[in-house]
Amino acid sequence: MKGKTCIIVGAGHAAAQLAPALRQEGWPGRILVIGEEEFIPYHRPPLSKAFLAGAKTLEEIYMRPARIYEKDGIEFLLKTRVASIDRGNRRLLLANGTSLAYDQLALVTGSRARRLDLPGIELAGIHYLRTCQDAARIKASVQRGNRAVIIGGGYIGLETAAVLKTSDMDVTVIEMQERVLARVTAPEMSEFFTRVHTEEGVRIVCNAGVAGFAGNGRVERVIGADGQAYAADLVIIGAGILPNIELAAAAGLTVNNGIVVDEYCRTSDADIVAAGDCTLHYNKFYDRWLRLESVQNAADQSRTAAATLCGKHIPYDTLPWFWSDQFDVKLQMTGLSQGYDEVITRGDRQHGRSFAAFYRRNGVVIAVDAINRPPEFMLGKKLITEKIIIDKNKLADTNIPMKTLIS
Ligand code: FAD
Repeated sequence: MKGKTCIIVGAGHAAAQLAPALRQEGWPGRILVIGEEEFIPYHRPPLSKAFLAGAKTLEEIYMRPARIYEKDGIEFLLKTRVASIDRGNRRLLLANGTSLAYDQLALVTGSRARRLDLPGIELAGIHYLRTCQDAARIKASVQRGNRAVIIGGGYIGLETAAVLKTSDMDVTVIEMQERVLARVTAPEMSEFFTRVHTEEGVRIVCNAGVAGFAGNGRVERVIGADGQAYAADLVIIGAGILPNIELAAAAGLTVNNGIVVDEYCRTSDADIVAAGDCTLHYNKFYDRWLRLESVQNAADQSRTAAATLCGKHIPYDTLPWFWSDQFDVKLQMTGLSQGYDEVITRGDRQHGRSFAAFYRRNGVVIAVDAINRPPEFMLGKKLITEKIIIDKNKLADTNIPMKTLIS
């Protein structure tokens, strides 16, 4: 491997894990990270939380300071897009017209915000939220008393709503489905978050499509599919993401709503691995193909991919987990709450802001959502991975500490 070059395409969360891990696993050759954005990798979660709220600067959300990469001999080529992969000759063609040779390649191209093609979408004041520059633009538009309309009641939409409301804006969330977070969580959690947002003064409108935007150069109104107009000084669209798979697809790699990888993060080309939001993998816990959009997946797959590039075999078999911060609520989730036949609630879901929901299938816990309850989250992981079965009345009884329950 000495004298060989590994190129990492994409300079996001996965790249910031993969490049140092590659060194730790013993890669002796050149490591070059090529990224389209202007900055070294930064954490994206704060973009809809502390960074948007002004509590953290860009430097404070860098995943690692530049000097740490330098120490490891990790090079960056930023503001540069990889246009295509010539697999036959092991070369990358860059959008600036130059090309680079690789021996091993890692695709960590992540995902992008799904764009809406609606009348008026070009008006000033309408934003998506994926990059730190998007977040900086939104932050600059936050103004007390102004009206913000957020399209999409997913995690990004709701987290943004919480920050803007805390900044004393008038906030409306428009959701197409019959409940917020419909794609990612159970009705019980949607109900809880609707209650929290309503208590804080956010207006949530479900079953509502958007037909377009109106204004004179700048957005003034969001027009609902039913003709209703929502006054808006600022619009944020959180309509999901699309994986960046075009580069891999054009190079003939197997893709299916994600770059298909095996448990070692290998693509259909032996010289190319992939990790993070752009991948589709078979998950043994849930016995199906999954494309995860989370820090956990990007970090864990990157460690596996780095080992694979160094000729080692460390399978990716981590339980998915995720978190979200909204107002004073910290949600921690582990597992996937799909396909459950029973929900056991520990704590009071209807009042206050502290409880946990355990999702079971055939008596076995498959997912846990913990609201301001770290012990339930931590021990929930154990229940899932070790398939520990606990009597449901005991699980629901808050007088019995979780630790005692499991031991
Ligand atoms: P990305 O971080 O998207 O990085 C991919 C990089 O590749 C990008 O910089 C892109 O520009 C670059 N790229 C793509 N194509 C090319 C090309 N052809 N040439 C060069 N460069 C290219 N996850 C959680 O677990 N918890 C959270 O609370 C949470 N909150 C979030 C809040 C926001 C606002 C956002 C946007 C995301 C959040 N996420 C959260 C998701 C998490 O940030 C992603 O899952 C993670 O960033 C995925 O890492 P990645 O490296 O796969 O992709």
